[in-house]
Amino acid sequence: MTANDTNNVILQNGVQMPYLGLGVWKVTDEVAENTVRQAIEVGYRAIDTATAYGNEAGVGRGITASGIDRDQIFVTTKIWNGHQGYHEALAAFDDSRTKLNMDVVDLLLVHWPVKGKYTETWRALEEIYTKGYARAIGVSNFQIHHLEDIATKSEITPMVNQVEFHPLLTQEPLRQYCSMHNIKVTAWSPLMQGNLDIPLLQELAAKHNKSAAQIVLRWDIQNGVITIPKTTTPARLVENANVFDFELTNDEMTQISALNENKRFGPDPDNFNF
Ligand code: NDP
Repeated sequence: MTANDTNNVILQNGVQMPYLGLGVWKVTDEVAENTVRQAIEVGYRAIDTATAYGNEAGVGRGITASGIDRDQIFVTTKIWNGHQGYHEALAAFDDSRTKLNMDVVDLLLVHWPVKGKYTETWRALEEIYTKGYARAIGVSNFQIHHLEDIATKSEITPMVNQVEFHPLLTQEPLRQYCSMHNIKVTAWSPLMQGNLDIPLLQELAAKHNKSAAQIVLRWDIQNGVITIPKTTTPARLVENANVFDFELTNDEMTQISALNENKRFGPDPDNFNF
């Protein structure tokens, strides 16, 4: 993997974001430090964390320990549900910056569309963006109706929507809506949380001399979807990043997309209680 412009997506405000990043959900603060440093050493240039993951400080230490300039790494964090609302979100973001040990983050997201709160949270993100403390802002787990709702009530269109996306959940209508409004989609749980034992994926892996994980990550990128696989296993860090040297055919892309079952491994954004 090399960090060049062709491996980046251009957000609606011109900011470049790597197509591939490291996700660190369920990674402890200590392990995050080590894993982030290792990931940067093997070529990752984007890290996806969140206040709720409890590892922003470790992520910050890992980036510092890598010795790579801060402006070479794209850092995403998120406002947690309990911190939603205008004033609460502003305060939570200051805490995130302190933990990350960064003045500016690259992308700040509203983690979930908490009913009655997310519009005010978005107003805080607009202010943070306007003041220059986040290079880009976006949302996560927003359905079309949530996006339509904030469109009517706010100035700035989210630049990114980070949602569960993988071969068993292809999110066609949502991706079409996002494409029409120039909202880039990021895939969370891209590897189906490790459930990769699907015959078609294994077959394509053998054909391309790649792993099933690499096939799925390549399918994300060819779909124009940013992807943030999580691993703390050093060999898998390298494996998951090694997806820029082969191509799936249109027919293979279609076959993978046809695996869709609208199956979620995580919560439903229209029915969550946290
Ligand atoms: P993933 O789909 O990335 O899968 C991670 C699991 O797959 C781990 O068990 C990992 O094991 C395993 N794995 C990683 N690479 C390979 C490989 N090459 N071959 C086989 N198994 C592999 O799951 P996540 O749920 O962690 O999603 C990724 C990221 O998305 C999160 O870390 C987080 O940053 C973000 N996210 C965001 C959410 C949101 O609401 N916005 C919700 C959920 C996730 P091991 O680590 O042991 O190698």
